[in-house]
Amino acid sequence: MSSNQNQNQNQNGGRSRCAGCKFLRRRCAQDCILAPYFPPNNPHRFASVHKVFGASNVTKMLQAVPEEMRGKAADSMSYEASIRVQDPVYGCAGMIYQLQNQIMEVQSQIDIVKGKTAFYSAQQHQQQQQQIEIGVGDGGGLGFGDFHGVDDQFLLWNGLAGVQHLEDKFN
Ligand SMILES: [Zn+2]
Repeated sequence: MSSNQNQNQNQNGGRSRCAGCKFLRRRCAQDCILAPYFPPNNPHRFASVHKVFGASNVTKMLQAVPEEMRGKAADSMSYEASIRVQDPVYGCAGMIYQLQNQIMEVQSQIDIVKGKTAFYSAQQHQQQQQQIEIGVGDGGGLGFGDFHGVDDQFLLWNGLAGVQHLEDKFN
C-alpha cells in the first residue's frame, strides 16, 4: 500500500500526469478518471473543457456515465467546449441553428430542381406526343398503301395531305 502511494507521489508508476492533473497542478492518481480521456500530449483539449464546464463538472459528468460511454462523453464535452470558445454566445446551439438553415436552404433548392425536372419532362413528353401526331399526319413510316380501303380507320388520319392522298387513291 505504502509502495503504491510512493509510486503515485513520485512518477505515477512511470506514467506522466494526465492533461487534467497537469493543468490543475495536482498529483495524477493511478485511477484518475480524467487520464484515459485527457492524455498529456493534448493539453488544449482539457484546457477548453475546463474553461467551459469546469474541471469538477467534467469529473462529475464522466462519473455519471458508464465507463464504456466515457470516451464519447469526453469527446462530446471537448467538441461542445471548442465550439463554445469559437461562439461564446450560442455555442453548439448556434452551430445546430446554422446547419438547420443550410438543410432548409438545400431542401428548397431540391424542391426547385424537382419542379423544373417535372416541368421539362412534361414538356418533353408533350413534344414527343406532338411529333407522333405530326408523323401520323404525314403518313409516317406507315405507307398509305398498307391501308387497304378500311373506311373506319380513315378517321385516324388527321393530316390534310394524307386525306388528299387517300381521296386521290380511291376516286
Ligand atoms: Zn489525472
